[in-house]
Amino acid sequence: MPALDLAALMQKILTILPVGVWIMDASGKIVYGNPAGQAIWAGARTVGPERFGDYKGWWVATGKQIQAEEWAAARAIHNGEISIDEEIEIECFDGTRKIVLNSAMPIRREDGSIEGAIIVNHDITERKRMEQRLRDFAEHDPLTGAYNRRLLFEHLESEIRRAQRYGALSLVMFDVDHFKNVNDTYGHVVGDHVLAGIAALVRGELRGPDRLARYGGEEFVVIAPGVDSRQAAVLAERLRSAIAAEKFDSLPQITCSFGVCQHRSGDNADGLIRRVDDLLYQAKQGGRNRVVTE
Ligand code: GH3
Ligand code: MG
Ligand code: MG
Repeated sequence: MPALDLAALMQKILTILPVGVWIMDASGKIVYGNPAGQAIWAGARTVGPERFGDYKGWWVATGKQIQAEEWAAARAIHNGEISIDEEIEIECFDGTRKIVLNSAMPIRREDGSIEGAIIVNHDITERKRMEQRLRDFAEHDPLTGAYNRRLLFEHLESEIRRAQRYGALSLVMFDVDHFKNVNDTYGHVVGDHVLAGIAALVRGELRGPDRLARYGGEEFVVIAPGVDSRQAAVLAERLRSAIAAEKFDSLPQITCSFGVCQHRSGDNADGLIRRVDDLLYQAKQGGRNRVVTE
C-alpha cells in the first residue's frame, strides 16, 4: 500500500473546500488562496508587506470601515489573536460587495513565534439577503409597506422608554372616512389601491424619525418622536390636506379623520393608543376630514 501523501491530500481538500482559505506570511503577503477564496474575492491580491489597508471592508454591525490594523489577519500576525466568524462586508477585486464571515488564526513555529496566518472566508451574502427579505416580510404590511401592528407596538414601546428620558413623543392616528363606500362602489381592488396610495403619500410627508404603521384595516398610526402635540397636529393637518387633495384612481375625494396626542409621563403603549383612538373618534363625530388634538 503506498504511503499516504498528506501534502497532496491537503492540497486536494483545499481545492474542493467550498470555503475560502488563505495563507499569509508574517509580512502580510498572501502565499496561497484556494479556489473558493479566489471566487469570493473575485481574484487574489498579494499585498504584503503588511499593507492591510489595501483591502476594503466594513464591519456589518456598525457600518464602519475596517482600519488596516483591525483586519483579523493583521491582528493574528501582530498579536497572535484568533478571530472567529466576524461579520464583514468586503469590496471584492472586481468592485462588487459581499458579506463574509471572516476568521483568522496565527500560524506558529515550534518556538511559538508567528510565521503567518490562516484566514477563512465564508460567503453569506445570499443568506443575509434572504434574512433581510424575511425581516421585511415579518415587519411590514405587504399591501402598504407600512410597519405592521406588532412593529407598531415594538417601536412605540421603545420610543416611550426614550421619551421618559429625553422628552417629547407624539402619536397621530388616522382612519379613512366612509371607506366601506369605496369598497362597495368600486370594489376591493380599488380600495386596496387607495390604501397603498395613502400610505405612499403619507410616507412622503414624514421626517426621518417618524414611522408609519398600519394599525388595522384602514387605520394607520404615525409615531412622531421629538415633537409635542402642537407640532404633531401641524403634521396631521398637512397629511389631512394632502390626502384630501389627491386624486386616487380618479375617484371622488378621499378624506381621513385624525387624532393627535402626546405622551405623558406614565403612559404605556396601550394607554396612548386608547387616547389617540378616542380623539380620532371625536374627529369622526365632529364631521370627519378633520384633526382633533387633545
Ligand atoms: P368611517 O368614516 O366611520 O371610518 O367609515 P368606514 O366606512 O371607513 O368605516 P368601517 O369601519 O365601517 O369600514 C372600514 C372598511 O375598511 C371595511 C373594510 O372592508 C375595509 N377594509 C379594511 N381593510 C381593508 C383592506 O385591506 N382592503 C380594502 N379594500 N378594504 C379594507
Ligand atoms: Mg373608516
Ligand atoms: Mg376603521
